Amino acid sequence: MSDLSRAPRVLVVGGAGYIGSHMVKYLDKKGAEITVLDNLSTGHRDLITAGKFIEGDLGDTELLDSIFEEGNIDVVMHFAASSLVGESVADPLKYYVNNVSRTANLLSAMQHRGIKNFIFSSTAAVYGEPDTLPITETTRTNPTNPYGATKLAVERMLKDCDAGFGLKSICLRYFNACGADESAIIGERHQPETHLIPLVLQVAAGRREHISVFGNDYETKDGTCLRDYIHVNDLAQAHYLAMNELLDGADSSIYNLGNSTGFSVRQVIDQVRLVTNEKINVIDAPRRVGDPAVLVADSAKARQELGWQPQYESLAVMIESAWAWHQRDFSEISENN
Ligand code: UDP
Repeated sequence: MSDLSRAPRVLVVGGAGYIGSHMVKYLDKKGAEITVLDNLSTGHRDLITAGKFIEGDLGDTELLDSIFEEGNIDVVMHFAASSLVGESVADPLKYYVNNVSRTANLLSAMQHRGIKNFIFSSTAAVYGEPDTLPITETTRTNPTNPYGATKLAVERMLKDCDAGFGLKSICLRYFNACGADESAIIGERHQPETHLIPLVLQVAAGRREHISVFGNDYETKDGTCLRDYIHVNDLAQAHYLAMNELLDGADSSIYNLGNSTGFSVRQVIDQVRLVTNEKINVIDAPRRVGDPAVLVADSAKARQELGWQPQYESLAVMIESAWAWHQRDFSEISENN
């Protein structure tokens, strides 16, 4: 626990999204006092299971000031972002506005009210096509798309804010987030969905005809890309530990969050077959532009310095938890929440 003698007061920006909503549930279990700020552009009201909810946008500087003016925020966790790689290539300015400029608004409001602790959702996309594997935090950053570039721009902005006015930040570079809380009351619900595991589960659930495998001629054991999948509640655990470090006076830092194991696209599909016992139609498709063959993290730094201990390391467990969520009757959920 942190040095605070009371429950930490946490602003979760983007707490109605996939990872943010798991964070809210995790923080609630730990007894934190939670405020959620979300504009519901991609998030869902019904995924917020705890805390005070404020519907609003990071473009609203008056709203931000009023949130911080009350003096009841110790730390800000920032999950809100546009995160579709393909869209970022086609519409880069949307990404620079939503991910960089809006974050500058948030940091400026924090600076104005003297709030100094910030946890940032960064991404493996900051590395682009890595020169060496596994990827450590010192591996050269070289994003290959505007999404990764905007996340890296925020990391740089945070470094400058530390030097300029003492803002302390921890940047967490997620590899492939997946899975759902055991309760299956929250989970991944993107529109449109582009990620491998939820798409394969949609095929298993009969909501999609087939899964396209993007490229079968990579230099990997079965020709398909290798990714490092990490359970969303393990990401939440890392944020919680990072928060306590900041509240204890830690310096700014950057951590990779992954399992340090690579699974191929075919291995994921096979594991979904095993977990669901359903037939999965697979179609071989061309490579997706910008996909590196292998992205695997070295997360030793987070384990050593934060004491991070992922609890859901097996691919089967990750997929089982996502499957429980996918089997829910989504027809009961209206388009608007
Ligand atoms: N992938 C695929 N078919 C799909 C979606 C993804 O073959 O319909 C592959 C993709 O090329 C990558 C891996 O699955 O190699 C993980 O992709 P995802 O979009 O889930 O995450 P990313 O690694 O791009 O962040």
